[in-house]
Amino acid sequence: MTLSDPQVAALARQAVELLGPDIAITIEPASSHDPYGFGVTAWLVYPVIDRRPEFGLHVDSTMSPARALAQLLDGLGEHIGETERFRGRAFPPCPAGHEHPADVVLEDDAVLLRCPFGGGTSRIEPAA
Ligand SMILES: [Zn+2]
Repeated sequence: MTLSDPQVAALARQAVELLGPDIAITIEPASSHDPYGFGVTAWLVYPVIDRRPEFGLHVDSTMSPARALAQLLDGLGEHIGETERFRGRAFPPCPAGHEHPADVVLEDDAVLLRCPFGGGTSRIEPAA
């Protein structure tokens, strides 16, 4: 099974919803590393924050939905604190409500957000 356009859109929506429901996303095709011609499709997901697409998050069709979601959450966590609106924001949110970001952990077909200090775990089922 490989990821498709609508799945990537749904997963991207799910990831940015954790930041804010008003955040739009733009998705563009990306060049993929496909040396053997297996038909790998890749996308760049741009969260549109303060009307600007700030940074592109790369996912490709070899990823499971959970893996793609985890990658989007990790990517948002890495870059979101650099934007004006979310400067200094810890993301994804710690399930215990602490001020540090949660660790993003893949577990089977789901993504876990885990407090790095044992404060608990929340489980996210991929939307696609
Ligand atoms: Zn915590």
